[in-house]
Amino acid sequence: MVLAYYIIAVATTKMDIAILGAGPAGLGAAYKLAKRQVAGVTVVEKATAVGGLSSSFPISGIFADFGSHRLHTECRPDILADLQLILGDDLLLRKRRGRIRLQGRWLDFPLRPLNMIKKMPKHMAFGLLFHLLFSKFRKKPTENSSFSDVMMRGVGPGLCRDFYFPYARKIWGLEPEEISSIQALRRVSARSVGALLRRVLSSLGILGKSKAAYFYYPRKGYGQISEKLSVAAEESGATVLLGTEIKKIIRNEPSGFKILLSSGKGTYEINADQIWSTIPLTNLIKLLDLPVPQDVHQSLNLLESRAMILVYLAFNKEKVTDFDTHYFPEEQYSFTRVSEPKNFSGFGPIDKTILCAELPTQVNSKIWNMSDMEIGQSVIASLVIAGVLKGSEIPETQIKRLPNAYPIYKKGFEDAFYLVDHWVGSIEGLVTFGRQGLFAHNNLHHVLEMAYGAVDSLQENGMFDKENWRNHRVSFDKQVVVD
Ligand SMILES: Cc1cc2nc3c(=O)[nH]c(=O)nc-3n(C[C@H](O)[C@H](O)[C@H](O)COP(=O)(O)OP(=O)(O)OC[C@H]3O[C@@H](n4cnc5c(N)ncnc54)[C@H](O)[C@@H]3O)c2cc1C
Repeated sequence: MVLAYYIIAVATTKMDIAILGAGPAGLGAAYKLAKRQVAGVTVVEKATAVGGLSSSFPISGIFADFGSHRLHTECRPDILADLQLILGDDLLLRKRRGRIRLQGRWLDFPLRPLNMIKKMPKHMAFGLLFHLLFSKFRKKPTENSSFSDVMMRGVGPGLCRDFYFPYARKIWGLEPEEISSIQALRRVSARSVGALLRRVLSSLGILGKSKAAYFYYPRKGYGQISEKLSVAAEESGATVLLGTEIKKIIRNEPSGFKILLSSGKGTYEINADQIWSTIPLTNLIKLLDLPVPQDVHQSLNLLESRAMILVYLAFNKEKVTDFDTHYFPEEQYSFTRVSEPKNFSGFGPIDKTILCAELPTQVNSKIWNMSDMEIGQSVIASLVIAGVLKGSEIPETQIKRLPNAYPIYKKGFEDAFYLVDHWVGSIEGLVTFGRQGLFAHNNLHHVLEMAYGAVDSLQENGMFDKENWRNHRVSFDKQVVVD
Protein backbone atom coordinates (compact mmCIF):
# COMPACT_ATOMS: atom_id res chain seq x y z
CA MET A 1 0.00 0.00 0.00
CA VAL A 2 2.80 2.42 1.01
CA LEU A 3 4.77 1.42 -2.11
CA ALA A 4 1.72 2.04 -4.38
CA TYR A 5 1.30 5.54 -2.90
CA TYR A 6 4.97 6.33 -3.47
CA ILE A 7 4.83 5.25 -7.11
CA ILE A 8 1.77 7.42 -7.78
CA ALA A 9 3.42 10.40 -6.10
CA VAL A 10 6.57 10.10 -8.22
CA ALA A 11 4.61 9.54 -11.42
CA THR A 12 2.53 12.70 -10.95
CA THR A 13 5.23 15.07 -9.64
CA LYS A 14 6.36 17.22 -12.53
CA MET A 15 9.06 19.84 -12.53
CA ASP A 16 8.10 23.47 -12.89
CA ILE A 17 9.96 25.49 -15.48
CA ALA A 18 9.65 29.27 -15.62
CA ILE A 19 10.47 30.78 -19.02
CA LEU A 20 11.41 34.46 -18.92
CA GLY A 21 10.34 36.45 -22.00
CA ALA A 22 7.50 35.75 -24.47
CA GLY A 23 9.40 36.52 -27.67
CA PRO A 24 9.71 33.71 -30.25
CA ALA A 25 12.49 32.01 -28.22
CA GLY A 26 10.48 31.82 -24.99
CA LEU A 27 7.24 30.89 -26.75
CA GLY A 28 8.93 28.33 -29.04
CA ALA A 29 10.32 26.61 -25.93
CA ALA A 30 6.96 26.82 -24.11
CA TYR A 31 5.14 25.32 -27.12
CA LYS A 32 7.56 22.42 -27.52
CA LEU A 33 7.92 21.80 -23.77
CA ALA A 34 4.20 21.90 -22.98
CA LYS A 35 3.54 19.38 -25.75
CA ARG A 36 5.98 16.96 -24.11
CA GLN A 37 4.07 17.14 -20.81
CA VAL A 38 7.27 16.54 -18.77
CA ALA A 39 7.13 19.86 -16.91
CA GLY A 40 4.72 22.54 -15.78
CA VAL A 41 5.46 25.64 -17.90
CA THR A 42 4.94 29.30 -16.94
CA VAL A 43 6.06 32.09 -19.28
CA VAL A 44 6.65 35.52 -17.70
CA GLU A 45 6.54 38.57 -20.00
CA LYS A 46 6.75 42.23 -19.00
CA ALA A 47 5.02 43.56 -22.14
CA THR A 48 1.25 43.36 -22.51
CA ALA A 49 1.55 41.45 -25.80
CA VAL A 50 3.66 38.50 -26.96
CA GLY A 51 6.33 38.52 -29.71
CA GLY A 52 9.16 40.76 -28.46
CA LEU A 53 11.10 42.21 -31.42
CA SER A 54 9.04 39.97 -33.70
CA SER A 55 5.63 41.35 -32.68
CA SER A 56 3.16 43.33 -34.79
CA PHE A 57 0.64 46.09 -34.06
CA PRO A 58 -1.95 47.88 -36.19
CA ILE A 59 -1.35 51.26 -37.87
CA SER A 60 -4.07 52.48 -40.27
CA GLY A 61 -5.56 48.98 -40.30
CA ILE A 62 -2.26 47.47 -41.50
CA PHE A 63 -0.17 45.02 -39.43
CA ALA A 64 3.14 46.82 -38.79
CA ASP A 65 6.32 45.09 -37.52
CA PHE A 66 9.40 46.42 -35.73
CA GLY A 67 11.18 47.03 -39.03
CA SER A 68 11.46 44.70 -42.00
CA HIS A 69 10.76 41.13 -40.79
CA ARG A 70 10.34 37.99 -42.89
CA LEU A 71 10.63 34.26 -42.22
CA HIS A 72 13.52 33.11 -44.35
CA THR A 73 13.35 29.93 -46.42
CA GLU A 74 16.55 28.79 -44.64
CA CYS A 75 14.32 27.88 -41.66
CA ARG A 76 15.01 24.30 -40.48
CA PRO A 77 12.42 21.97 -42.10
CA ASP A 78 10.98 20.52 -38.84
CA ILE A 79 10.56 24.05 -37.42
CA LEU A 80 8.95 25.26 -40.64
CA ALA A 81 6.59 22.26 -40.56
CA ASP A 82 5.50 23.19 -36.99
CA LEU A 83 4.91 26.82 -38.03
CA GLN A 84 2.92 25.69 -41.08
CA LEU A 85 0.85 23.49 -38.79
CA ILE A 86 -0.03 26.22 -36.29
CA LEU A 87 -0.47 29.02 -38.85
CA GLY A 88 -2.17 26.95 -41.57
CA ASP A 89 -3.11 28.94 -44.68
CA ASP A 90 -2.11 32.17 -42.94
CA LEU A 91 1.60 31.43 -43.55
CA LEU A 92 2.08 32.76 -47.07
CA LEU A 93 5.00 32.09 -49.43
CA ARG A 94 5.87 35.43 -51.06
CA LYS A 95 8.32 36.55 -53.73
CA ARG A 96 10.90 39.08 -52.52
CA ARG A 97 10.87 42.49 -54.08
CA GLY A 98 13.56 44.81 -52.73
CA ARG A 99 16.01 47.38 -54.03
CA ILE A 100 19.27 49.01 -52.91
CA ARG A 101 19.99 52.74 -53.23
CA LEU A 102 23.62 53.13 -54.38
CA GLN A 103 25.19 56.30 -55.77
CA GLY A 104 21.88 57.69 -56.99
CA ARG A 105 20.73 54.44 -58.66
CA TRP A 106 18.47 51.58 -57.60
CA LEU A 107 19.75 47.98 -57.81
CA ASP A 108 17.33 45.06 -57.49
CA PHE A 109 17.60 43.02 -54.30
CA PRO A 110 17.92 40.02 -54.37
CA LEU A 111 20.63 40.80 -56.92
CA ARG A 112 19.96 39.78 -60.54
CA PRO A 113 22.74 39.52 -63.19
CA LEU A 114 21.29 41.71 -65.95
CA ASN A 115 20.12 44.34 -63.53
CA MET A 116 23.58 44.35 -61.88
CA ILE A 117 25.36 44.78 -65.22
CA LYS A 118 23.02 47.65 -66.12
CA LYS A 119 22.81 49.44 -62.75
CA MET A 120 25.95 48.70 -60.73
CA PRO A 121 28.44 51.59 -60.89
CA LYS A 122 31.15 50.41 -63.35
CA HIS A 123 34.12 51.08 -61.04
CA MET A 124 32.49 48.85 -58.44
CA ALA A 125 31.88 45.99 -60.91
CA PHE A 126 35.49 46.13 -62.22
CA GLY A 127 36.78 46.31 -58.65
CA LEU A 128 34.91 43.08 -57.83
CA LEU A 129 36.25 41.32 -60.92
CA PHE A 130 39.82 42.42 -60.14
CA HIS A 131 39.42 41.25 -56.56
CA LEU A 132 38.11 37.86 -57.69
CA LEU A 133 41.15 37.31 -59.96
CA PHE A 134 43.69 38.12 -57.24
CA SER A 135 41.88 36.92 -54.12
CA LYS A 136 44.14 33.83 -53.74
CA PHE A 137 47.11 36.09 -52.93
CA ARG A 138 45.45 37.95 -50.07
CA LYS A 139 46.35 37.42 -46.41
CA LYS A 140 43.98 35.15 -44.46
CA PRO A 141 42.26 36.81 -41.46
CA THR A 142 43.71 35.77 -38.10
CA GLU A 143 42.21 35.47 -34.61
CA ASN A 144 42.73 39.19 -34.07
CA SER A 145 41.11 40.22 -37.33
CA SER A 146 38.34 42.77 -37.50
CA PHE A 147 35.17 43.07 -39.56
CA SER A 148 37.21 45.30 -41.86
CA ASP A 149 39.92 42.61 -42.41
CA VAL A 150 37.40 39.87 -43.23
CA MET A 151 35.37 42.01 -45.63
CA MET A 152 38.41 43.56 -47.37
CA ARG A 153 39.77 40.09 -48.06
CA GLY A 154 36.36 38.79 -49.11
CA VAL A 155 34.93 41.45 -51.40
CA GLY A 156 37.72 44.00 -51.84
CA PRO A 157 38.06 47.74 -51.18
CA GLY A 158 35.47 49.04 -53.68
CA LEU A 159 32.42 47.26 -52.30
CA CYS A 160 33.69 47.78 -48.74
CA ARG A 161 34.06 51.54 -49.23
CA ASP A 162 30.76 52.08 -51.02
CA PHE A 163 28.51 49.47 -49.41
CA TYR A 164 29.61 47.34 -46.46
CA PHE A 165 31.55 49.91 -44.41
CA PRO A 166 29.05 52.79 -44.45
CA TYR A 167 26.27 50.25 -43.71
CA ALA A 168 28.31 48.83 -40.81
CA ARG A 169 28.97 52.32 -39.39
CA LYS A 170 25.27 53.04 -39.42
CA ILE A 171 24.13 49.71 -37.97
CA TRP A 172 26.69 49.37 -35.17
CA GLY A 173 27.93 52.93 -34.70
CA LEU A 174 31.58 51.80 -34.92
CA GLU A 175 34.40 52.02 -37.44
CA PRO A 176 34.80 48.69 -39.35
CA GLU A 177 38.27 48.24 -37.74
CA GLU A 178 36.66 48.38 -34.26
CA ILE A 179 34.13 45.65 -35.02
CA SER A 180 34.93 41.99 -34.25
CA SER A 181 35.40 39.61 -37.18
CA ILE A 182 32.57 37.55 -35.64
CA GLN A 183 30.19 40.25 -36.84
CA ALA A 184 31.22 39.56 -40.44
CA LEU A 185 30.92 35.80 -39.94
CA ARG A 186 27.49 35.99 -38.28
CA ARG A 187 25.99 38.92 -40.13
CA VAL A 188 27.19 38.78 -43.73
CA SER A 189 26.28 35.66 -45.70
CA ALA A 190 27.82 36.93 -48.99
CA ARG A 191 31.24 37.88 -47.63
CA SER A 192 33.31 36.82 -50.64
CA VAL A 193 33.07 37.62 -54.34
CA GLY A 194 32.46 33.90 -54.99
CA ALA A 195 29.53 33.77 -52.54
CA LEU A 196 28.16 36.98 -54.04
CA LEU A 197 28.35 35.57 -57.57
CA ARG A 198 26.70 32.29 -56.49
CA ARG A 199 23.83 34.33 -55.09
CA VAL A 200 23.45 36.35 -58.26
CA LEU A 201 23.58 33.24 -60.48
CA SER A 202 21.09 31.40 -58.28
CA SER A 203 18.49 34.00 -59.27
CA LEU A 204 18.68 32.50 -62.79
CA GLY A 205 17.98 29.04 -61.45
CA ILE A 206 21.33 27.78 -62.88
CA LEU A 207 22.46 26.47 -59.51
CA GLY A 208 19.04 25.20 -58.42
CA LYS A 209 15.97 27.09 -57.22
CA SER A 210 16.84 30.36 -55.54
CA LYS A 211 15.87 30.23 -51.86
CA ALA A 212 16.71 33.92 -51.50
CA ALA A 213 14.00 34.93 -53.98
CA TYR A 214 11.16 33.89 -51.63
CA PHE A 215 10.15 34.28 -48.01
CA TYR A 216 7.34 33.22 -45.68
CA TYR A 217 5.14 35.82 -44.08
CA PRO A 218 1.96 35.52 -41.99
CA ARG A 219 -1.22 37.15 -43.30
CA LYS A 220 -1.62 39.17 -40.05
CA GLY A 221 1.94 40.41 -39.60
CA TYR A 222 5.14 38.80 -38.33
CA GLY A 223 3.72 38.85 -34.79
CA GLN A 224 1.16 36.23 -35.79
CA ILE A 225 3.92 33.58 -35.48
CA SER A 226 4.39 34.36 -31.78
CA GLU A 227 0.65 34.76 -31.18
CA LYS A 228 -0.03 31.30 -32.60
CA LEU A 229 2.91 29.76 -30.68
CA SER A 230 1.47 31.27 -27.50
CA VAL A 231 -2.04 29.91 -28.15
CA ALA A 232 -0.65 26.46 -29.01
CA ALA A 233 1.51 26.44 -25.84
CA GLU A 234 -1.50 27.41 -23.67
CA GLU A 235 -3.65 24.73 -25.32
CA SER A 236 -1.03 22.19 -24.22
CA GLY A 237 -1.17 23.43 -20.63
CA ALA A 238 1.40 26.28 -20.42
CA THR A 239 0.53 29.51 -18.60
CA VAL A 240 1.55 32.83 -20.22
CA LEU A 241 1.65 35.79 -17.81
CA LEU A 242 1.64 39.11 -19.72
CA GLY A 243 2.23 42.58 -18.22
CA THR A 244 4.23 40.92 -15.46
CA GLU A 245 7.47 42.38 -14.18
CA ILE A 246 10.18 40.28 -12.57
CA LYS A 247 11.32 41.95 -9.34
CA LYS A 248 13.84 39.44 -8.06
CA ILE A 249 15.07 35.89 -8.55
CA ILE A 250 16.07 34.13 -5.32
CA ARG A 251 17.77 30.74 -5.02
CA ASN A 252 15.74 28.15 -3.05
CA GLU A 253 17.68 25.65 -0.95
CA PRO A 254 18.63 22.96 -1.84
CA SER A 255 17.51 23.65 -5.41
CA GLY A 256 15.20 25.70 -7.59
CA PHE A 257 14.20 29.36 -7.48
CA LYS A 258 11.65 31.74 -6.05
CA ILE A 259 10.66 34.47 -8.54
CA LEU A 260 9.09 37.67 -7.21
CA LEU A 261 6.62 39.12 -9.71
CA SER A 262 4.57 42.25 -9.99
CA SER A 263 1.55 42.84 -12.23
CA GLY A 264 -1.82 44.60 -12.20
CA LYS A 265 -2.85 41.89 -9.67
CA GLY A 266 -0.19 43.08 -7.20
CA THR A 267 3.06 41.48 -6.05
CA TYR A 268 3.35 37.71 -5.70
CA GLU A 269 5.86 34.88 -6.07
CA ILE A 270 6.12 31.65 -8.02
CA ASN A 271 8.50 28.72 -7.50
CA ALA A 272 10.39 27.07 -10.33
CA ASP A 273 12.76 24.09 -10.42
CA GLN A 274 14.44 25.57 -13.49
CA ILE A 275 14.54 28.99 -15.12
CA TRP A 276 14.95 29.28 -18.89
CA SER A 277 15.73 32.91 -19.60
CA THR A 278 15.42 34.70 -22.95
CA ILE A 279 15.55 38.25 -21.51
CA PRO A 280 18.70 40.38 -21.97
CA LEU A 281 21.61 38.70 -20.17
CA THR A 282 22.61 41.93 -18.44
CA ASN A 283 19.07 42.43 -17.07
CA LEU A 284 18.89 38.82 -15.88
CA ILE A 285 22.06 39.23 -13.84
CA LYS A 286 20.69 42.38 -12.19
CA LEU A 287 17.58 40.42 -11.10
CA LEU A 288 19.55 37.54 -9.54
CA ASP A 289 19.81 37.79 -5.76
CA LEU A 290 23.32 36.31 -5.82
CA PRO A 291 26.78 37.85 -5.36
CA VAL A 292 28.14 38.59 -8.84
CA PRO A 293 31.93 38.12 -9.24
CA GLN A 294 33.80 41.38 -9.93
CA ASP A 295 35.10 40.32 -13.38
CA VAL A 296 31.60 39.27 -14.48
CA HIS A 297 30.21 42.57 -13.27
CA GLN A 298 32.85 44.52 -15.21
CA SER A 299 32.28 42.45 -18.35
CA LEU A 300 28.61 43.44 -18.46
CA ASN A 301 29.63 46.93 -19.62
CA LEU A 302 31.14 45.40 -22.77
CA LEU A 303 27.90 43.66 -23.77
CA GLU A 304 26.25 46.69 -25.33
CA SER A 305 23.20 46.82 -27.54
CA ARG A 306 22.48 49.13 -30.44
CA ALA A 307 19.13 50.90 -30.18
CA MET A 308 16.76 51.65 -33.02
CA ILE A 309 14.16 54.29 -33.79
CA LEU A 310 11.34 53.13 -36.04
CA VAL A 311 9.50 55.81 -37.98
CA TYR A 312 6.07 54.84 -39.35
CA LEU A 313 4.55 57.09 -42.02
CA ALA A 314 0.85 56.59 -42.85
CA PHE A 315 -0.60 57.51 -46.27
CA ASN A 316 -4.18 57.69 -47.56
CA LYS A 317 -3.44 55.88 -50.82
CA GLU A 318 -3.14 52.32 -52.07
CA LYS A 319 0.67 52.13 -52.18
CA VAL A 320 3.84 54.22 -52.17
CA THR A 321 5.88 51.67 -54.17
CA ASP A 322 5.66 48.05 -55.34
CA PHE A 323 8.67 47.07 -53.20
CA ASP A 324 8.68 45.36 -49.81
CA THR A 325 12.04 46.82 -48.69
CA HIS A 326 14.41 49.58 -49.82
CA TYR A 327 18.01 49.35 -48.51
CA PHE A 328 20.05 52.51 -47.86
CA PRO A 329 23.72 51.68 -47.15
CA GLU A 330 24.98 55.24 -47.69
CA GLU A 331 25.68 57.50 -44.73
CA GLN A 332 23.82 60.50 -46.13
CA TYR A 333 20.62 58.67 -45.08
CA SER A 334 20.06 58.25 -41.34
CA PHE A 335 18.06 55.05 -41.95
CA THR A 336 19.33 51.67 -43.16
CA ARG A 337 16.06 50.27 -44.48
CA VAL A 338 12.58 51.44 -45.38
CA SER A 339 9.83 48.86 -45.72
CA GLU A 340 6.23 48.97 -46.93
CA PRO A 341 4.50 46.42 -44.66
CA LYS A 342 1.42 45.96 -46.86
CA ASN A 343 3.67 44.58 -49.63
CA PHE A 344 4.95 41.81 -47.31
CA SER A 345 1.61 39.99 -47.04
CA GLY A 346 -0.25 41.62 -49.94
CA PHE A 347 -3.21 42.21 -47.57
CA GLY A 348 -4.55 45.46 -46.11
CA PRO A 349 -7.05 48.25 -46.74
CA ILE A 350 -7.23 49.30 -50.40
CA ASP A 351 -6.87 53.06 -49.73
CA LYS A 352 -4.13 53.07 -47.09
CA THR A 353 -0.49 52.12 -46.80
CA ILE A 354 2.42 52.76 -44.43
CA LEU A 355 6.20 52.98 -44.66
CA CYS A 356 8.58 52.05 -41.84
CA ALA A 357 12.11 53.53 -41.67
CA GLU A 358 14.77 51.92 -39.42
CA LEU A 359 17.25 54.32 -37.77
CA PRO A 360 19.95 52.54 -35.73
CA THR A 361 21.29 54.73 -32.89
CA GLN A 362 22.23 54.75 -29.19
CA VAL A 363 19.83 55.26 -26.28
CA ASN A 364 20.00 58.97 -25.34
CA SER A 365 21.75 60.00 -28.55
CA LYS A 366 20.83 63.38 -30.03
CA ILE A 367 18.30 61.82 -32.42
CA TRP A 368 16.89 59.48 -29.70
CA ASN A 369 15.95 62.57 -27.68
CA MET A 370 14.52 64.56 -30.62
CA SER A 371 10.75 65.04 -30.76
CA ASP A 372 8.72 62.56 -32.82
CA MET A 373 7.77 65.36 -35.21
CA GLU A 374 11.41 66.37 -35.84
CA ILE A 375 12.48 62.76 -36.51
CA GLY A 376 9.52 62.22 -38.84
CA GLN A 377 10.24 65.38 -40.80
CA SER A 378 13.91 64.53 -41.31
CA VAL A 379 13.00 61.03 -42.60
CA ILE A 380 10.38 62.45 -44.98
CA ALA A 381 12.91 64.99 -46.32
CA SER A 382 15.46 62.20 -47.02
CA LEU A 383 12.83 60.05 -48.73
CA VAL A 384 12.00 62.96 -51.01
CA ILE A 385 15.72 63.28 -51.92
CA ALA A 386 15.86 59.52 -52.66
CA GLY A 387 12.80 59.87 -54.91
CA VAL A 388 10.63 57.53 -52.81
CA LEU A 389 8.22 60.34 -51.83
CA LYS A 390 7.04 63.44 -53.62
CA GLY A 391 7.67 66.73 -51.82
CA SER A 392 3.94 67.45 -51.55
CA GLU A 393 3.15 64.39 -49.41
CA ILE A 394 2.50 64.93 -45.69
CA PRO A 395 1.97 61.54 -44.05
CA GLU A 396 1.00 61.05 -40.41
CA THR A 397 3.99 59.98 -38.29
CA GLN A 398 4.32 57.48 -35.42
CA ILE A 399 7.61 56.66 -33.69
CA LYS A 400 8.73 53.62 -31.68
CA ARG A 401 12.03 53.38 -29.82
CA LEU A 402 13.75 50.00 -29.24
CA PRO A 403 16.61 50.06 -26.71
CA ASN A 404 17.88 46.50 -27.52
CA ALA A 405 17.74 46.03 -31.31
CA TYR A 406 21.18 44.60 -32.18
CA PRO A 407 24.03 43.23 -30.03
CA ILE A 408 27.23 45.23 -30.69
CA TYR A 409 30.20 42.97 -31.38
CA LYS A 410 32.97 45.42 -30.56
CA LYS A 411 36.43 43.81 -30.75
CA GLY A 412 37.08 42.22 -27.35
CA PHE A 413 33.41 41.49 -26.58
CA GLU A 414 34.16 37.77 -26.98
CA ASP A 415 36.12 37.54 -23.70
CA ALA A 416 33.48 39.53 -21.83
CA PHE A 417 30.69 37.31 -23.14
CA TYR A 418 32.67 34.17 -22.29
CA LEU A 419 33.04 35.27 -18.65
CA VAL A 420 29.39 36.25 -18.22
CA ASP A 421 28.07 33.19 -20.05
CA HIS A 422 30.24 30.83 -18.00
CA TRP A 423 29.19 32.33 -14.71
CA VAL A 424 25.48 32.22 -15.58
CA GLY A 425 25.90 28.68 -16.94
CA SER A 426 27.40 27.59 -13.61
CA ILE A 427 24.16 28.41 -11.75
CA GLU A 428 22.39 25.06 -11.43
CA GLY A 429 18.93 25.10 -13.01
CA LEU A 430 19.44 28.31 -15.00
CA VAL A 431 19.60 28.17 -18.82
CA THR A 432 19.80 31.16 -21.17
CA PHE A 433 19.03 31.29 -24.89
CA GLY A 434 17.40 33.48 -27.56
CA ARG A 435 18.74 36.64 -29.16
CA GLN A 436 19.00 38.54 -25.87
CA GLY A 437 19.86 35.53 -23.71
CA LEU A 438 22.93 34.55 -25.77
CA PHE A 439 23.79 38.03 -27.06
CA ALA A 440 23.31 36.64 -30.56
CA HIS A 441 22.65 38.58 -33.72
CA ASN A 442 20.17 36.22 -35.39
CA ASN A 443 16.76 35.59 -36.95
CA LEU A 444 13.54 34.16 -35.58
CA HIS A 445 14.20 30.72 -37.10
CA HIS A 446 17.57 30.70 -35.28
CA VAL A 447 16.04 31.44 -31.87
CA LEU A 448 13.52 28.66 -32.48
CA GLU A 449 16.47 26.30 -33.10
CA MET A 450 17.78 27.39 -29.69
CA ALA A 451 14.38 26.84 -28.04
CA TYR A 452 14.02 23.39 -29.61
CA GLY A 453 17.61 22.57 -28.54
CA ALA A 454 16.80 23.45 -24.92
CA VAL A 455 13.68 21.25 -24.94
CA ASP A 456 15.70 18.43 -26.53
CA SER A 457 18.16 18.72 -23.63
CA LEU A 458 15.47 18.16 -20.99
CA GLN A 459 15.38 14.48 -20.11
CA GLU A 460 12.19 12.61 -19.25
CA ASN A 461 13.19 12.65 -15.55
CA GLY A 462 13.39 16.45 -15.62
CA MET A 463 17.20 16.62 -15.56
CA PHE A 464 18.79 19.10 -17.97
CA ASP A 465 21.39 17.30 -20.09
CA LYS A 466 24.28 19.79 -20.09
CA GLU A 467 26.40 17.77 -22.52
CA ASN A 468 23.61 17.72 -25.09
CA TRP A 469 23.03 21.48 -24.57
CA ARG A 470 26.75 22.17 -25.10
CA ASN A 471 26.53 20.38 -28.47
CA HIS A 472 23.52 22.47 -29.43
CA ARG A 473 25.37 25.62 -28.37
CA VAL A 474 28.24 24.77 -30.75
CA SER A 475 25.74 24.60 -33.63
CA PHE A 476 24.29 28.04 -32.74
CA ASP A 477 27.72 29.58 -33.35
CA LYS A 478 27.30 28.70 -37.03
CA GLN A 479 24.07 30.67 -37.43
CA VAL A 480 24.35 33.46 -40.00
CA VAL A 481 21.79 36.26 -40.20
CA VAL A 482 19.73 36.32 -43.38
CA ASP A 483 18.63 39.74 -44.63
C1 LIG B 1 15.11 45.70 -37.18
C2 LIG B 1 15.10 44.21 -37.06
C3 LIG B 1 14.79 43.43 -38.17
C4 LIG B 1 14.76 42.05 -38.09
N1 LIG B 1 14.42 41.30 -39.18
C5 LIG B 1 14.25 39.97 -39.07
C6 LIG B 1 13.79 39.18 -40.18
O1 LIG B 1 13.58 39.68 -41.29
N2 LIG B 1 13.60 37.85 -39.99
C7 LIG B 1 13.81 37.25 -38.78
O2 LIG B 1 13.58 36.04 -38.67
N3 LIG B 1 14.28 37.96 -37.73
C8 LIG B 1 14.49 39.29 -37.85
N4 LIG B 1 14.94 40.02 -36.76
C9 LIG B 1 15.32 39.29 -35.54
C10 LIG B 1 14.13 38.87 -34.67
O3 LIG B 1 13.35 40.00 -34.38
C11 LIG B 1 14.70 38.27 -33.39
O4 LIG B 1 15.68 37.29 -33.72
C12 LIG B 1 13.67 37.56 -32.52
O5 LIG B 1 12.57 38.37 -32.19
C13 LIG B 1 14.38 37.18 -31.22
O6 LIG B 1 13.50 36.50 -30.38
P1 LIG B 1 13.80 36.33 -28.82
O7 LIG B 1 12.61 35.71 -28.23
O8 LIG B 1 15.11 35.69 -28.66
O9 LIG B 1 14.00 37.84 -28.29
P2 LIG B 1 12.99 39.06 -28.27
O10 LIG B 1 12.16 39.07 -29.50
O11 LIG B 1 13.82 40.25 -27.98
O12 LIG B 1 12.04 38.74 -27.04
C14 LIG B 1 12.48 38.87 -25.71
C15 LIG B 1 11.24 39.07 -24.83
O13 LIG B 1 11.67 39.21 -23.48
C16 LIG B 1 10.89 40.21 -22.87
N5 LIG B 1 11.61 40.75 -21.70
C17 LIG B 1 12.73 41.50 -21.68
N6 LIG B 1 13.07 41.80 -20.41
C18 LIG B 1 12.15 41.23 -19.61
C19 LIG B 1 11.95 41.19 -18.21
N7 LIG B 1 12.80 41.79 -17.35
N8 LIG B 1 10.89 40.50 -17.74
C20 LIG B 1 10.02 39.86 -18.59
N9 LIG B 1 10.15 39.88 -19.92
C21 LIG B 1 11.20 40.55 -20.43
C22 LIG B 1 10.72 41.24 -23.97
O14 LIG B 1 9.64 42.12 -23.69
C23 LIG B 1 10.48 40.34 -25.17
O15 LIG B 1 9.11 40.05 -25.34
C24 LIG B 1 15.04 41.41 -36.84
C25 LIG B 1 15.35 42.19 -35.73
C26 LIG B 1 15.39 43.57 -35.83
C27 LIG B 1 15.75 44.39 -34.62
